[in-house]
Amino acid sequence: MTRVNVVTGGASGIGKATAEMLRERGETVYTADIHNADIVADLTTTEGREFYAAEVARLTGGKLDAVYAIAGLATPVPATVGVNYFGMIASVESVRDLLLQSDSPRVVITSSVASYMGHDDALLDAILSGDEDKALAMAAELAADPARANAIYGTSKHAVTRWIRANAVKPEWAGAGIAINGVGPGVIRTPMTEDMLADPDMLKYLESTIPSPFNGPAAEPEWIASALVFLGSPENMFITGQVLFADGGAEAGIRPELV
Ligand code: NAD
Repeated sequence: MTRVNVVTGGASGIGKATAEMLRERGETVYTADIHNADIVADLTTTEGREFYAAEVARLTGGKLDAVYAIAGLATPVPATVGVNYFGMIASVESVRDLLLQSDSPRVVITSSVASYMGHDDALLDAILSGDEDKALAMAAELAADPARANAIYGTSKHAVTRWIRANAVKPEWAGAGIAINGVGPGVIRTPMTEDMLADPDMLKYLESTIPSPFNGPAAEPEWIASALVFLGSPENMFITGQVLFADGGAEAGIRPELV
């Protein structure tokens, strides 16, 4: 039986590359995105999340093998917290019952190298408390302060990694045979980083500050898709609760003492 997958953020970049790779494997894919997708839904809103869940149930007929939660923003605005963390959780939790019907159910989520590059403690506490309104209000405060606004993205991704590790081992996930893993991309050539990588000074800065001994400072989205697809496939027999950094060695270079 062909595997059935849902890919959020499937209209662009890493999500699009992942959807294409899964289709090349002969698998069925339903994309979800705010535009150009099988399921057009805004994952920052309650209505969008409910529509997404209903459409996944309808399109899949009630059985899902893997969900790839890739939709995200990197801009210093509250919606980044809304989609990267709360939208990600909604897109995963709302399809858990469908995953239970699979022989090899998998959840794969995009975190980021930004997850360990500094975060705002108060915003992190608000996010991890699960109070979305409070977290969005705190993100709005940060967004209004140019000195602190950039912490929004890293904090949202730090929270994503914390969610993966805290939840993967729980009875409702590991106990039900559902693996949950993340991939932490470095700098990837997608619309998200287009402006940054078009700036020669920024490229030089990245080359001098990111210790990437392998394939330069920026990657193609397909290189990340292959890591995501492995973690979301039945070939992943025993890995759960992990975030695999797909960053050309940047993470190992930056924090070699971490074991
Ligand atoms: P991208 O901008 O090409 O794709 C992101 C997709 O998410 C877009 O299609 C967008 O429409 C969708 N999206 C955004 N807000 C949404 C919402 N509210 N509801 C539904 N869909 C929404 O970016 P990408 O580089 O492919 O990023 C994919 C994921 O990888 C993101 O979570 C991003 O944070 C993460 N990531 C990217 C990089 C990078 O360098 N590009 C690095 C680390 C992590």
